[in-house]
Amino acid sequence: MVDNSIPRHWPKTSYDPKYDPIIDAGPGHNRDHAPTYWIGTAGTPPADDGPVSGDMEADVVIVGSGYTGLSTAIHLAKEHGIQAVVLEANTVAWGCSTRNGGQAQISSGRLKRSQWIKRWGVDVAKGMHREVSEAFELFNDLIASDDIDCDPQTGGHYYIAHREKVMAGLQNESDLLNSTFGYGSRIIGKDELHAEHVNDQESHGAMWEPDGTCIHAGKLAFGYVNMARRLGVKIHTGSPVMGWETKNGIHHVRTPGGIVKTKNVALATAGYTPPGLNSKTKHRLMPILSNSMVTRPLTQSELDECGIKTMSPLTDTRTLRHYYRLLPDNRVQIGSRSAVTGRDAENDKHLQLLRANLARKFPALEDINLDYSWWGWVDVSHDMMPRIFQPDPDKRIFYAMGYGGNGVMYSAQAGRRMAQLVAGKKDEAFNLPIFTSPLPSHGLLTPFRRMGQRMAYVWYYLKDEVI
Ligand SMILES: Cc1cc2nc3c(=O)[nH]c(=O)nc-3n(C[C@H](O)[C@H](O)[C@H](O)COP(=O)(O)OP(=O)(O)OC[C@H]3O[C@@H](n4cnc5c(N)ncnc54)[C@H](O)[C@@H]3O)c2cc1C
Repeated sequence: MVDNSIPRHWPKTSYDPKYDPIIDAGPGHNRDHAPTYWIGTAGTPPADDGPVSGDMEADVVIVGSGYTGLSTAIHLAKEHGIQAVVLEANTVAWGCSTRNGGQAQISSGRLKRSQWIKRWGVDVAKGMHREVSEAFELFNDLIASDDIDCDPQTGGHYYIAHREKVMAGLQNESDLLNSTFGYGSRIIGKDELHAEHVNDQESHGAMWEPDGTCIHAGKLAFGYVNMARRLGVKIHTGSPVMGWETKNGIHHVRTPGGIVKTKNVALATAGYTPPGLNSKTKHRLMPILSNSMVTRPLTQSELDECGIKTMSPLTDTRTLRHYYRLLPDNRVQIGSRSAVTGRDAENDKHLQLLRANLARKFPALEDINLDYSWWGWVDVSHDMMPRIFQPDPDKRIFYAMGYGGNGVMYSAQAGRRMAQLVAGKKDEAFNLPIFTSPLPSHGLLTPFRRMGQRMAYVWYYLKDEVI
């Protein structure tokens, strides 16, 4: 059992809504969680081991206490008998892992199966499908354990056509999924969708995938904390890693409270990776803001009008998808693109855009009061796929990141894979491209990324709404 009598280490500084990973040196020091629905309803955060206080040693240091870092620690302990120390700059699971939409889907990264085939050919694409299927099994096993009580709502994933013209593409993708990958997706027509599943007023039908589970994001993170600590993992919050020097193969990892000496460093910092943390992760990800809001509980007549008869994950076919769901307490959550910079994140126009898009789907919710609104930085890699990799064979440094907004489910497996890398226990799955190459660099385009992002948003708007 976890010893909850250990004093908790409450944050010393408040949440910073303007934080921007491209501009700021790091994600902060012992900051409070973002004011999300998940943090508001998950109950008291579990105890952790507080800030590093004095120099210490560890077999493995994991940087970042989100799903990836915690899963790495859990699998190092469970499958390899290795005790890791997790170092977290702020409060536990402070990054995306307590800010997301809680939608577990059978994917990793932003590409569809047809795009996998185009990029790598059918055989590799089938290998990737096996990898994400195995990942979903692992995720299901984890959330069924006694340590984790994250209110899972199963029922598959609905990929909803926001315009009629995208239905043909969904039909092709579904046919490919079923014929090439032996999967059981199906197309749902507009009338059936509205009557039986969700009365989304702008939808024209959907592709349904049998794997899709909604969870409580905060309870999942806290459950991982409980599991990791039960297995003997130390989780030091309020301990930002400021960098490290390597002497004779030993990394001297610097935190404000002391130096941690270790042979292995595993980076699980995702969209919050500071540019100065390590040369192998510098500018390898594009942090993109995603925002999310949660309404007050719906009345029965609002529920009837919206006709949301499932609590499964719903996403639409826009390039920058809307992800939405009915929560168990009858609130609706919806999220999508947000500001380009952290400094602009609080600008009300981003929230108003999301509200307007909710009203297009569910006119009955046009003026509904909101109880929660927040945002977070998604880790988008240059080629839209994650990497779990050791970037320099001579240095025992590893990373797992780049899920592009699809990490709730796959981060469990990515952590397990990173644990295998650290333990030197690769299997044949490690021949897949997400394990054999580094995160691609943005190269000469690095200084112009945000300019490109603004232009891309205009193009996505035209493509998704006008043309
Ligand atoms: C608004 C939003 C909605 C999303 N919705 C979904 C969804 O519905 N489904 C889905 O699959 N995915 C979704 N995602 C993505 C998903 O949340 C992430 O893929 C996942 O949580 C990544 O977990 P992680 O552990 O890799 O990173 P994070 O949870 O981001 O953790 C990284 C941690 O590293 C810490 N850190 C950074 N630098 C340092 C340092 N120098 N020293 C110490 N610690 C450091 C940070 O403080 C942070 O806590 C969403 C993301 C956002 C922002």
